[in-house]
This record gives sequence, C-alpha cells and structure tokens, in this order.
Amino acid sequence: MYTGNHVEKIMSLSRNVLLDDVQLRELEKARNELAASLKLVAPEESITQKLHTLLFHMVDMAKDQKTLGVLSEQGIECTHSYFNKLERRFSTFNSKPDRYWYIIRELLCTNMINDLEV
Ligand SMILES: [Zn+2]
Repeated sequence: MYTGNHVEKIMSLSRNVLLDDVQLRELEKARNELAASLKLVAPEESITQKLHTLLFHMVDMAKDQKTLGVLSEQGIECTHSYFNKLERRFSTFNSKPDRYWYIIRELLCTNMINDLEV
C-alpha cells in the first residue's frame, strides 16, 4: 500500500476551489486509504496535530464548506504574509495590545469583505 498516491490526491483537492460531490467522495476515500496505510506501516506511532486535523476533521470541513482552500498551507501562508504586512503598518503603536487589536480588526474586515464577495 503506497501512501504517496493518497497524499497526492488529497493535495490536488486542497486547492482554493469548490468541490463537487464526486470530488468530496474521492477526498473521503483518499483520507480513509491514507489512514489505513498509516495504521499498517506505523501502528504504534503517535500523530501530530496536523495529521489529526487531516484524518479526523478535513473531510467534514470539506463537506461543510465545499472547499479545503482555507485549510491549505498556501492559504495559511498567505494570511501570515498579510498579517506581517499589517504588523508593519501598525508598528507605530507602542502598545502591543493596541497594535494587535487593530491588526485583528483589519483581518476581520478583510475576511468579511471576502466572504461577502464585494
Ligand atoms: Zn480533533
């Protein structure tokens, strides 16, 4: 049982696109086969937080939101990059709680605009 194919399938479905029912079933199948493979080759190993999220929450989240775009490493890195940009913008605030309040507020506003698609 080669796990690379399952990971490759999961990665290909983790782009920032909407998934249809066929793709959601493919995702669930790849997740189940990956879990079975890992159990076979490393039955005594503990799992990391990322692997736990992948095995136990990814499929439900994909079914609920019809995408894995928000979970992907690229999405997280993009948000991290935007956070760093905001941190530079608000660097003149001497108070860290004030600075982070403005950053969080900006992130929330950006998120709301994106969700509303305006
Ligand atoms: Zn959990």
